[in-house]
Amino acid sequence: MQEINEHSPLTGETWRDAPMQEKRGIPRALALLWQGACLRCPRCGARSLFRTWFAMHERCAVCGLRFEREQGYFLGAMYINYGVTVVLALLGSFALEYWTRPSLTQHLVLWIGFCTVFPVLFFRHSRGMWLGFDFIFDPEMAEEPQQRGTPRR
Ligand SMILES: [Zn+2]
Repeated sequence: MQEINEHSPLTGETWRDAPMQEKRGIPRALALLWQGACLRCPRCGARSLFRTWFAMHERCAVCGLRFEREQGYFLGAMYINYGVTVVLALLGSFALEYWTRPSLTQHLVLWIGFCTVFPVLFFRHSRGMWLGFDFIFDPEMAEEPQQRGTPRR
């Protein structure tokens, strides 16, 4: 089992000292979502989610949190990405129609382009938000699987 490094190499503090660990309720939920959107680890706040544009680290370098808890875990991130894309496209098309009244062709070109490019740009942030969202409801799952309910022999 990999040893979890609780101490930040930058500050010397432990992830348990991270500011959002003290928050509760809605402020904690919003802080976790925002932290995820900023590509920060939901447990310690370190900027440790991605090693390239699309590839994630397996674990947080600071607190050891495993990001992909199980196969298919990031399916929820696709829902977030899809939902944000659709809401922005709908609000944008209604606003554009209200203020400038472009032709149907202009609408189609603009919003098909938007719906193609935006999800790629938002990919990393949706994964971060999914991690934060999941951490809101189940921070215990973020612990090592061996520590939960595995009978000892
Ligand atoms: Zn971390």
